[in-house]
Amino acid sequence: MARGLFLEIASHGHVNPTIGLVSELVKMGDEIVYVSYEAFRDKFEKIGAKFIGYTPESLINIRNKGNFDNVVNYLPVVKELRKIISEVAMKQEGTFDYLILDNTIKINKDVLKKFNIKKVISLSTTFALNKELINQLLENIRFSDSHTQEFNEKCKAEILEFLEPVLLKEKADLKIVFTSKYFQPYADEFNSTYKFVGPSIFDRHELEDFKIENSDNKKVVFISLGTVVNKKLDFYNECFEALASRDDLIVIMSIGERVSIKDLGKIPENFKVYNYVPQLEVLKKVDLFITHGGMNSTNEGLYNGIPLIVVPQAGDQPIVAKRVEELGAGVALIDNVNSDSISEAVNRVLSNNFYEVYKKNAEKIGKSLRECGGYKRAADIIHNELDI
Ligand code: UDP
Repeated sequence: MARGLFLEIASHGHVNPTIGLVSELVKMGDEIVYVSYEAFRDKFEKIGAKFIGYTPESLINIRNKGNFDNVVNYLPVVKELRKIISEVAMKQEGTFDYLILDNTIKINKDVLKKFNIKKVISLSTTFALNKELINQLLENIRFSDSHTQEFNEKCKAEILEFLEPVLLKEKADLKIVFTSKYFQPYADEFNSTYKFVGPSIFDRHELEDFKIENSDNKKVVFISLGTVVNKKLDFYNECFEALASRDDLIVIMSIGERVSIKDLGKIPENFKVYNYVPQLEVLKKVDLFITHGGMNSTNEGLYNGIPLIVVPQAGDQPIVAKRVEELGAGVALIDNVNSDSISEAVNRVLSNNFYEVYKKNAEKIGKSLRECGGYKRAADIIHNELDI
């Protein structure tokens, strides 16, 4: 039996892919001490990990305001998180055989020394990043118009500094990347310490009585902007306008926890709107997924061979959107997102001429994702390659 210390930031998108991995390591007999945001306690206690929770106030405030799309607000929170996580980690007892951490968390030498840790595994829940992708990330950042150019440049420099640990590849012994080599841009530039294991699709047993009524066998469209940058009333209304007249479609829309369904006004008859859906189940029954391009949602959609319309909101999502379009698995809708452009993109993807082509390309990526082995292979790699 080995002992593993697991450090994770406070985000569904980063935490969800780790659930399967932790469960598998526990099944192999390891003791896992998982440090993350208090709200995720249940997910990990349920699968037999020891959970240590933290609750940063600033994070909760920003989350409630829903303005995670503004990087100026986001960065100080992530920095604070890194500090809190190290402090909490340092309070643990005993020794650990390995450390697993999100690649946005700096590897803290004091933690390695205190627990006599010899092996470090970093996890990438987005694409693995090389210099070119980091440059693209910086170019894509949307700053508020109220800031000066000088302020924006200072922020970019800070972000680069923040991302540096991701670039310092030599530090972690293994880098687990939750996508496939085929989907990863510039895949050949990453050496053999990068392990592309594909998405961690783990039955989350959520909302098990959720059903999609579709007795007429209509086409089903699913819309979600994920769990972070989703306070987007305008976008949801543009979707209504774009698709309300399509009585050949059933549209399932997940709007997140920060928008109240009643604030949306009149919901068109062909729409069903929820604050949260069991996405992995929903995706088994849909023909088209309109997503923000969060890596998990994108992987989950493509895993099921579903063509995507990607409407990026923040972070790495424009890169994901372009990659999906490049591989012919859908459409990137980056600028001028309105009812006309949404309607046009939906018409295109669902059209008789193109649907089969998008579907074939989505299935090709899906096959590459399924063949990677997921969380089971990640756990095997950790044990076998690091000789734990
Ligand atoms: N999710 C879900 N139901 C919803 C919305 C999201 O189960 O109604 C899950 C989704 O399956 C994915 C995660 O939340 O695993 C969102 O992660 P992603 O990386 O796509 O986006 P983020 O929320 O980090 O922006």
